Amino acid sequence: MVRVLVTDQVDEYIVRTLKDRGVEVDYRPGIGRDELLKVVPDYEVLIVRGRTKVTRDVIDAGKRLRVIARAGVGLDNIDVEYAKARGIDVINAPEGSTQSVAELVIGFMVVAARLIALQDRLVKGGEWPKGKYVGTELFGKTLGVIGFGRIGQRVAELARAIGMEVVAYDIVDISSRARAIGVKPVGFEDLLRVSDVISIHVSLTPSARHMIGEGEFGLMKRGVIIINASRGEVIDGKALLKALNDGVVAAAALDVLEHEPPVEDWERELVNHPRVVVTPHIGAETKEAQRRIAEILVDKLLRIIEAKRI
Ligand code: NAD
Repeated sequence: MVRVLVTDQVDEYIVRTLKDRGVEVDYRPGIGRDELLKVVPDYEVLIVRGRTKVTRDVIDAGKRLRVIARAGVGLDNIDVEYAKARGIDVINAPEGSTQSVAELVIGFMVVAARLIALQDRLVKGGEWPKGKYVGTELFGKTLGVIGFGRIGQRVAELARAIGMEVVAYDIVDISSRARAIGVKPVGFEDLLRVSDVISIHVSLTPSARHMIGEGEFGLMKRGVIIINASRGEVIDGKALLKALNDGVVAAAALDVLEHEPPVEDWERELVNHPRVVVTPHIGAETKEAQRRIAEILVDKLLRIIEAKRI
């Protein structure tokens, strides 16, 4: 009998379908670290989202572990290399949330360009700031997409549909994919120089950590809008705060932060900045994305369970 431990909140489809297929599932979302280390030796499969950090000590403690499954995209909370070296399969559902994240990003662009969150706060606070802030249209503006993978491409397609010019940069060759959807591939610095809106969609590789910092803000157009729904560590947050205060960045919309929730004083200053809109890492939090992720993950997991006869 395969025993599965689920340590983060996941779509109920996962638990129900696995149980229907004769798999024993313990659903313990929010389990603490000490308790996880204590119970993980009993399980063949561990299912997590982003909250549970599957570090070496967890993998070492999981003596029977055969599969670690990430209900989502990013594997940066799992020590994948160490798990693989121990013969443990690591699986995820990378395509499940693409549309949801892309839709959030389009919303972010409109919110930032018209300072909707700020106007909302002022009206609720008793002000009527009509005429105080003049926004910008997105139509005809240039969107720079950094990281032209699944989400970057979908954002580009949606942005084209609202009349934006789109340029994109990636570390891999994207020329044919880009041209197919009317996007111009450019170098990194060119993208920073020409974009009115910059949206970041890289995976958190070592080269992506703090890839947007003081030097990069120095190259951008004054009044640029910054969107980040990838990983918080990609932007040097202190440099972003400075760029906002200096007027280089007109507005920023962030679904991800270097620390979630923010801990440092400067991080609180950043999220409370009047021209910053922030959400608590909700890119994949739609009914549709969670169900899609659940279906993909269960399908992969059952195949492995059957193939490995675990
Ligand atoms: P993907 O792997 O399809 O695309 C990522 C792209 O980034 C790849 O084309 C890769 O070559 C490129 N890249 C990596 N390092 C780079 C660098 N230094 N410079 C330029 N390009 C670089 O991934 P995806 O599914 O499109 O996801 C994109 C990001 O969004 C990931 O970081 C993922 O973790 C994140 N994500 C966030 C949420 C959320 O809730 N906000 C949900 C899903 C995914």
